[in-house]
Amino acid sequence: MKIDLIKLTFNDTCAYKHKPFQYCCDEIQNDKAIVFTGEDINDICGEYEDDGVCVPQFCTSYTETVGSWGDEWEQTDNYPIQFCPHCGEKIEISVVEEIDVSDKYKELSKQRDELWRKCQRTDSKRRESELREQVGKLDKQIDSFYLLDEWKGETYE
Ligand SMILES: [Zn+2]
Repeated sequence: MKIDLIKLTFNDTCAYKHKPFQYCCDEIQNDKAIVFTGEDINDICGEYEDDGVCVPQFCTSYTETVGSWGDEWEQTDNYPIQFCPHCGEKIEISVVEEIDVSDKYKELSKQRDELWRKCQRTDSKRRESELREQVGKLDKQIDSFYLLDEWKGETYE
């Protein structure tokens, strides 16, 4: 199974998107204990880290409740796997492209700030709720920079 990643750089950080890919078998796709993620990677040696952000990996995921009574939280540890545990196929993940989307990110953040300022100044309730809605839409677009999902090009529409 081959997965091509696109690295987006913006705002002094980076995030990853993946190109469309096919799972090696249905079993891995349906396996709830296996996740494709760049988060909570149990990363002892820094091998999966690039610019402080983890390159997404296929991982077996363990979540346990830790802490003592009254102060408990869920802790997830994801352990990267190199081979599909179901069919044995090698999992190859590579970063094939790096795209600087800083300008787009800055533009969206600026628009968001301007709308938010207008929203706080207006006396009209109707106008305020319109503006809030627009801010919400921009927030979603900005959040989508960080999501590990399929790369659809530089549209963000
Ligand atoms: Zn498989």
